[in-house]
Amino acid sequence: MVRKVKPKKNKAAEKDLKQKLGLFDQIPEECLACAEPFDRQNREQVMSWNVVVKRDPEVVRLYCPDCWQKAISVVKDFEEKIKERGSPEDGRQE
Ligand SMILES: [Zn+2]
Repeated sequence: MVRKVKPKKNKAAEKDLKQKLGLFDQIPEECLACAEPFDRQNREQVMSWNVVVKRDPEVVRLYCPDCWQKAISVVKDFEEKIKERGSPEDGRQE
């Protein structure tokens, strides 16, 4: 029995992947905060580490899961403080 499977092409995903692959070259080889080595061949690391991309100038930052958690808690703490102050300038997105 022959089943014809039409390949589903998701162009948006393809483009996204290409962008990511393009950035892949620029990903640092270690965590920016603790200098833990990053192995880009290691799928688990690729999935769990966090890459932050900034533009103008284009900067790629890499954080290991530990440092990312710390960074998140710092940001949350910061946001809490801002909320306490009731700043209206919140919600800016990059
Ligand atoms: Zn780290």
